[in-house]
Amino acid sequence: MRVPPGRDVVLIAGGGFAAVEAALALRAMAGERAHVCLVAPDPDFSFAPAATRSAFAAATGDRMPMRELAERAGAALIGGNLQEVRPDLRRIVLSTGRELEYDHLVVAVGARAEGWLAAPGVLFRGPRDEEALGALLDDMVARALAGERLRVVFAVPAGPGWAVPVYELALLAAQWLLRHGVRDAVDLVVVTAEDEPLGVFGHDAAEAVTAELGEAGVEVRPGAVVREWADGNLHVVPGGEVPADLVVSLPVLRGPRVPGLPHTQLGFVAADEGGRVVGSPGVYVAGDAGPFPVKQAGLACQQADAVAALIAAEMGAHVAPHPGPPTLRAVLWTGRGDRFLRTDLAGGRDESGGVGALTAELWWPPGKVAGRFLTPFLEGQPDQARLVDLDVPEPRRG
Ligand SMILES: Cc1cc2nc3c(=O)[nH]c(=O)nc-3n(C[C@H](O)[C@H](O)[C@H](O)COP(=O)(O)OP(=O)(O)OC[C@H]3O[C@@H](n4cnc5c(N)ncnc54)[C@H](O)[C@@H]3O)c2cc1C
Repeated sequence: MRVPPGRDVVLIAGGGFAAVEAALALRAMAGERAHVCLVAPDPDFSFAPAATRSAFAAATGDRMPMRELAERAGAALIGGNLQEVRPDLRRIVLSTGRELEYDHLVVAVGARAEGWLAAPGVLFRGPRDEEALGALLDDMVARALAGERLRVVFAVPAGPGWAVPVYELALLAAQWLLRHGVRDAVDLVVVTAEDEPLGVFGHDAAEAVTAELGEAGVEVRPGAVVREWADGNLHVVPGGEVPADLVVSLPVLRGPRVPGLPHTQLGFVAADEGGRVVGSPGVYVAGDAGPFPVKQAGLACQQADAVAALIAAEMGAHVAPHPGPPTLRAVLWTGRGDRFLRTDLAGGRDESGGVGALTAELWWPPGKVAGRFLTPFLEGQPDQARLVDLDVPEPRRG
């Protein structure tokens, strides 16, 4: 790797939201002080959140060539998988055996999505399961047209994760069945370990989401942990049996267990609130690979920004201090319009009471993933454009 003299080498392992946001933030905050290099295995950047909608449109999700993205972000790109970190030597080892030296390392390799439920249906991990979900939808329609009555359950596991996709899938399925003239033949149920639907946004928002589901005829069983499926029933605790002919489940998320780095019990890279990896000078983590329990691309971007600010400050750049607790922003696709949700988080819990589910945009540009640098970048806005929060309009609920 050729590095212009006088620059610190920042390696970013990963090619997802956290990695690209970190590269963009470093360009903005550290400028010429940093030589930024992305180390990513896939030739494409995959926009996973589009997968819920793509499954219904029989289209493949959004993908962009990594090389083009890196170039536009002012970063170099090395194709490969991070296999091990040697913090004492400030080196990483790739799966090919190649070793790379760093002054600063950002680990942004995401989480591992695992199946947890043996049941007829689909494990929905994102773009790779669009086709399987499309086939399941076709099967549902065919069986309903043949006179069968079906009960389809959308299941959210307990543990770290992001539940919005399950609500999108249930709401979009309701619209899709309606369009195919078989809505009455299929019961749709969401079973979730959350206390209330999207309760992470606060009670007001959860009520609005519950109302949205009610209008679409989707039943919700909150506070229910799914244990297993057997003989056409999901066994949930507390609550007993929930009939389920087909189950669409989100995966459980586990950490990447990067050799050479400390990790939590679930395998996420152990780090402090700012993203500094415990006992590993110069090493940071951002995004789903880290210990924060809400696994969301918007948060991944904020963690990447915080890490970039620490690195830029270490290089002597004058950067604003970390802005405090993260803000959670989400767009819920309902098939009947977009719903915008926003709340401030502290320690992984809502403390603001939430701002409700709104039909009006709450940030600009209003991307599905809200990243300070990434959203304007992906929307093709000028380089200096930043994501900004908009005021909550009146009336508060859409
Ligand atoms: C269906 C679905 C819908 C979602 N909807 C939303 C939404 O609406 N809004 C939202 O904010 N979030 C949403 N999320 C969550 C969001 O996609 C994740 O939180 C986000 O992708 C995490 O970003 P990340 O960069 O940490 O990890 P990832 O996006 O998973 O990226 C990890 C990257 O690291 C690479 N990698 C893996 N292993 C290695 C290795 N050993 N070495 C180098 N690179 C490696 C991968 O190839 C990948 O490029 C959704 C998720 C799903 C599945």
